[in-house]
Amino acid sequence: MKPAAFAYRAPASIQEALALLEANREAKLLAGGQSLVPVLNFRLASPALLIDLNRIGALAGIREEADGTLVIGAMTRHRAIEKSEQVRCANPLLALAMPHIAHAQIRNRGTIGGSLAHADPAAELPAVCLACDAEMAIQHAGGTRRLAAGAFFSGFFSTALKPTELLAEVRFPAWPAQRRAGFAEVSRRHGDFALAGVALTADVDNGRCERARIALFGAEDVPRLVPLEQPLDEKRIADAARAIAAGSQPRADHHASAEYRRELIEVLVRRALEQALAS
Ligand code: FAD
Repeated sequence: MKPAAFAYRAPASIQEALALLEANREAKLLAGGQSLVPVLNFRLASPALLIDLNRIGALAGIREEADGTLVIGAMTRHRAIEKSEQVRCANPLLALAMPHIAHAQIRNRGTIGGSLAHADPAAELPAVCLACDAEMAIQHAGGTRRLAAGAFFSGFFSTALKPTELLAEVRFPAWPAQRRAGFAEVSRRHGDFALAGVALTADVDNGRCERARIALFGAEDVPRLVPLEQPLDEKRIADAARAIAAGSQPRADHHASAEYRRELIEVLVRRALEQALAS
């Protein structure tokens, strides 16, 4: 299939992109194109205008602020994040998750902003953002607003972004010394979207998990955070995993039944917690 005809603009600045969005409410932003182009080809969307963000240098890059906040520009490619030593040190969970996103060729083009704005329930990055309590910096013609990841993902392939806004940066809070990361997913083949997955951060003291932020993805219609406030030692991990799976509402589709996904959640939460405690 080929896309319906569309006009194309490639602005050089964020302000120019926002002005185009304001003037064309039916426009779509183009980042890496790895999700949008198939959507256009299947004519699931037929925007009158594509606004290409690839020439806006200010939207890409990785930096750390004085308080340890890791800031990643929306147009930063998955591969740049995966290869970044700075990311590996500043946010071990991101570093664990990146190689699971699609294949290297897709990671060369796909961007963090595109992945979060697309909000596929089986994508890894929304769950990582929930587990890290990341903040989205969203720009509109009148300024910037910040939104916690928990408020950003609003439904199945839906976010709180308005048609006149763009995601500019993702802000990951500083990673405390006692924090550990856990990540586990199951997909049919490496690089496929996950049937179910878990991304978590756990604050560990003396071999015991004091609290954890466990984000489920792939299994339900929206990535979901399950905060764990009570301390957890190794012996109670299996109970916690069982309880989280029992409280989940996995969907059934042609890839897997709801029962199978619930089973996966239990196993993956256990594995990810064990990984965090062992690291
Ligand atoms: P695009 O496709 O350009 O855009 C996606 C959507 O986001 C569009 O609606 C666009 O308008 C909007 N958008 C883009 N940037 C912004 C912005 N800054 N502000 C507001 N809106 C914006 N992803 C995974 O997470 N895990 C996988 O396992 C996985 N497997 C894949 C396998 C295949 C075969 C393919 C083709 C893709 C796969 N993906 C997977 C998706 C991939 O990670 C994409 O890179 C990602 O979903 C979209 O990023 P993009 O930069 O290509 O965005």
